[in-house]
Amino acid sequence: MAQDTVFSKIVRREIPSDILYQDDLVTAFRDINPRAPSHVLIVPNREIPTVNDIENDDEAALGRMFTVARKLAKQEGLQDDGYRLVVNCNAYGGQDVYHLHMHLVGGRPLGPMML
Ligand code: C5P
Repeated sequence: MAQDTVFSKIVRREIPSDILYQDDLVTAFRDINPRAPSHVLIVPNREIPTVNDIENDDEAALGRMFTVARKLAKQEGLQDDGYRLVVNCNAYGGQDVYHLHMHLVGGRPLGPMML
């Protein structure tokens, strides 16, 4: 079994979080330290530590992360001005929480790169 990260506890609703969306495959919640007016994290419910640990059976959850990102971007009003989706991997990628997650960030010009 993978490590039990804070994101798994959020998925299981064992600790409080501002959850915007949840289904059988993924959960989306607001980042506790938002770097932009909208900063949402989208995670697979299964605790995949990093991109390196993705298995073929995870494809449905990973695809769902993108369709949920699209829906939440619209819900957050980011659709027309644009937004950024980011997945960090391991130390050089700046990954802090070892439960794979997609950042959905927007609401201001982000410049060439952030996170
Ligand atoms: O990609 P990285 O692993 O660096 O991002 C982790 C993100 O998880 C950070 O943006 C941090 O603010 C967020 N976080 C959170 N709730 C927690 C712990 C971390 O939203 N309880």
